[in-house]
Amino acid sequence: NDQLSERIVNMSTSATLAMAAKARELRGQGKDIIGLSLGEPDFNIPEFIKEAAIQAIHDNYSSYPPVDGYGDLKEAIIHKFKRDNGLDYKADQIVVSTGAKQSLANVAMVMINPGDEVILPAPYWVSYSDIVKIAEGVPVEVPTSIENDFKMTPEQLEAAITPKTKMLWYSSPCNPSGSVYSKEELEALAEVLKKHPNIYVVSDEIYEHINFADGHVSIAAIDGMYDRTVTVNGVSKAFAMTGWRIGYIGAPAWIARACNKIQGQITSGANAIGQRATIAALEAPKSKIQYMIDEFHKRRDMVLQLLGEIEGFKLNLPEGAFYIFPDISSFFGKSLNGKKIENASDFSMYLLEEANVATVTGEAFGNPNCIRISYAASEEELREAIRRIKTVL
Ligand code: PLP
Repeated sequence: NDQLSERIVNMSTSATLAMAAKARELRGQGKDIIGLSLGEPDFNIPEFIKEAAIQAIHDNYSSYPPVDGYGDLKEAIIHKFKRDNGLDYKADQIVVSTGAKQSLANVAMVMINPGDEVILPAPYWVSYSDIVKIAEGVPVEVPTSIENDFKMTPEQLEAAITPKTKMLWYSSPCNPSGSVYSKEELEALAEVLKKHPNIYVVSDEIYEHINFADGHVSIAAIDGMYDRTVTVNGVSKAFAMTGWRIGYIGAPAWIARACNKIQGQITSGANAIGQRATIAALEAPKSKIQYMIDEFHKRRDMVLQLLGEIEGFKLNLPEGAFYIFPDISSFFGKSLNGKKIENASDFSMYLLEEANVATVTGEAFGNPNCIRISYAASEEELREAIRRIKTVL
């Protein structure tokens, strides 16, 4: 419709959600589709978190909460940042939002002017580029490859910086690659940023706990980075609370204040019951959610082993999140069952139609040689999905 704004017409539809819709459509036609396209834990919310939410309802948490979050939730977030990340924030540096997605959108709206460049090491999470574009910024993709575990090198960062660079956005553990930046790697990137004091960083740490490597490092904790980093986190992934829509930031107070201001005009704050439940989630020791992390770890190893038996899949070892991001470019130019595979989208569509397995094309994440396979599914589903993939290839 030509009455719609250019803003929305120029926006791409989230590829992960589009794939889920296509899978649903095929299911509706009676096909037995295995969905490995969504970034959503397949666990139920832990009971102790449900209890806190039920209690909050009984306690009448039904009025507008403070725009930037309940004071005691902010205290729990401050404690979490200190305990897990060695970061000291004060209450005026914390803003609670409707999912980490809104946290990211807030930051984009308050930091980016038209034409400002935002460096996105690719592959990056699908929404980054469109969120940047809504704020009239210019996403600058820095391509990485499986050979260096999809991580941006300091040289690549340096080369991508221009006088217009305003921010760097990245996630570690990364969606879609599962890559985790080590302390040394972040220090090397910080060295480059030191020479460019006007560049700010968004560190998206939503997969922090789903990490099978040595441990998680927040770039804000690295020398010189605290005053120029927005640390984004939330409860969707580690606590299986995707539908509760709670995310938060720790940031320099002037950025937090601006996020609070924009949120005050757009949402009036995040939902009250979700915030109360989040207090219980963040105050719990990590041991309460370790069973989910152990399960993801087990599945990662199994999926890697099974995919490794399929010729043409190039794999690395993703250290976190719940995705495998194989390079499948060896299939490009080939015909499979009479269907020509020219790119990752063709390949992903072929798997959906022929194997009835839903994945997501890497093109959506800025990497056209790969597909993303989510292993947030049961062991049985994963085994069956990979058996089918093997058969149709
Ligand atoms: N950041 C990354 C890297 C994600 O993968 C996701 C969810 O898929 C989000 C942020 C958004 O999380 P939330 O559910 O808190 O909005």
